Amino acid sequence: MDARLLEILVCPVCKGPLDFRKANQELVCKACKLAYPVRDDIPVMLEEEARQLSHEEAAG
Ligand SMILES: [Zn+2]
Repeated sequence: MDARLLEILVCPVCKGPLDFRKANQELVCKACKLAYPVRDDIPVMLEEEARQLSHEEAAG
């Protein structure tokens, strides 16, 4: 995914920064413990599409 695109993306819920997890193709918000899917290099920045993270995943 484009690094510049990643820089401007924020969590739609808390407006905080996101971590790109390349292995999972997900954008992670540790504050909200949500992972937003990246489909075909397109980040899906929708809370209803996000996956709830476990404590372990959010910490990592
Ligand atoms: Zn957030």
